[in-house]
Amino acid sequence: MLLRHTPTEIKERSALTVNPAKTCQPIGAMYAALGVHGCLPHSHGSQGCYAYHRSALTRHFKEPVVAATSAFTEGASVFGGQANLVQAIDNIFSVYNPRVIAVHTTCLSETIGDDVPQIVAKAKADGKVPDGKFVFHANTPSYVGSHVTGFSSMTKAMVDYFAESNGQRAKTINLIPGYVEPSDMAEIRRIAGIMGIATIMFPDTSRVLNGPLTGRYKMFPDGGVTIEDLKKTGSSAGTIALGRTASLAAARALDAKCKVPCEILGLPVGLHGTDAFVDTLRRMAGVSVPDALNLERGQLVDTISDWHQYLYGKRVAIAGDPDQVLALTRFVVSLDMRPVHIVTGSPAGKKYEKRLREAVSEVPEPVNVKVPGDMLLFHQWIKNDPVDLIVGNTYAKYIAKDEDIPLVRYGFPIYDRMGHSYFSTMGYRGALRLMEKLLDAILDRKDRDADDITMELVM
Ligand code: SF4
Repeated sequence: MLLRHTPTEIKERSALTVNPAKTCQPIGAMYAALGVHGCLPHSHGSQGCYAYHRSALTRHFKEPVVAATSAFTEGASVFGGQANLVQAIDNIFSVYNPRVIAVHTTCLSETIGDDVPQIVAKAKADGKVPDGKFVFHANTPSYVGSHVTGFSSMTKAMVDYFAESNGQRAKTINLIPGYVEPSDMAEIRRIAGIMGIATIMFPDTSRVLNGPLTGRYKMFPDGGVTIEDLKKTGSSAGTIALGRTASLAAARALDAKCKVPCEILGLPVGLHGTDAFVDTLRRMAGVSVPDALNLERGQLVDTISDWHQYLYGKRVAIAGDPDQVLALTRFVVSLDMRPVHIVTGSPAGKKYEKRLREAVSEVPEPVNVKVPGDMLLFHQWIKNDPVDLIVGNTYAKYIAKDEDIPLVRYGFPIYDRMGHSYFSTMGYRGALRLMEKLLDAILDRKDRDADDITMELVM
């Protein structure tokens, strides 16, 4: 038993977190920055943070993750990191030659109160930022929120620094995909493409963190939103932001700055989540839904009706990031499954918790919800009241093993399986894949537990 010290008795804890279900802001900021074409993320703090954040992203995506650091020493920690950042900007443009540097901060630079815009202005005044190159920044104090907050802040910074209105309205729709996989971003864009809608997606990590192996290392891969497109977002017809926690701030900022109207939706997971996305796209762009998309939807509906008998009534425990947890919960409830233990590590707020509780209001048994909660509590709930299935990231595998419950890996991080960066779980097609994973896990267990009499050939 790997987690044999997990007690079944649940005690109220106020100071102690055990096995958190989140990580710190800069990793999300780094991930968002990688979704800008030609961008080198820069961590303004001591170098341990950046080493950890790069390695966590590399372990998840199995891809090289480029970034730089101000590499604070004790001196900089006391007297401020201005000299480090100015030097870093100079070195980065001379050695790595990115188009843009995206600076985020760590606990250290936030605590000493470094004024990043002032430092960047000094670097510009000193001639360290070449013509046609850019530096932008987001403050990402790790003692506030989670990695999703960092993602949200860096995405908003793209608006704050670059979006501008040219006084006209293009037909383009801005898509803010949220903290999702590169494959999900590609799928969201593909759906809009099928509908014949021109879009600008930001950030966009597809073809950055799921690129091809060509035999030649490209430090700045082909994917990512360009600075030119980021500027154009201020003249788009509208913005669709997916996932409130990750995308709302940028969408609201764009509305305030350039008067681009926005709609905030949940992630397009499952039938209803995707319907809401497609319908909003349709209305905003003034188009009709093409047959090709109706076909995908119909196939999903057919499959739901075919597989419903195996999913009906199955009890599920879900842990992960807020936007994913909410969208997934809505989906599994729509399949007549029962999410009974739900934890997100991010402090997503009271309104979020209310939405989550509404999503499970028709589940015909009590549901445990904790926002924010940790994996110890999640495990205790499962120990006291076992489920048929766990859905969560790689850290949930210890609980799954100890309690002998099947696990479907979902969310961030997934360190021990492949596929997530290549096969989306969003849109109608993604919902099919997600259902296949849920069903495989349930039926594999059914086969494993069957005796000679109950073993079925046909299911
Ligand atoms: S919590 Fe602070 S010190 Fe730790 S990795 Fe994150 S930014 Fe760095």
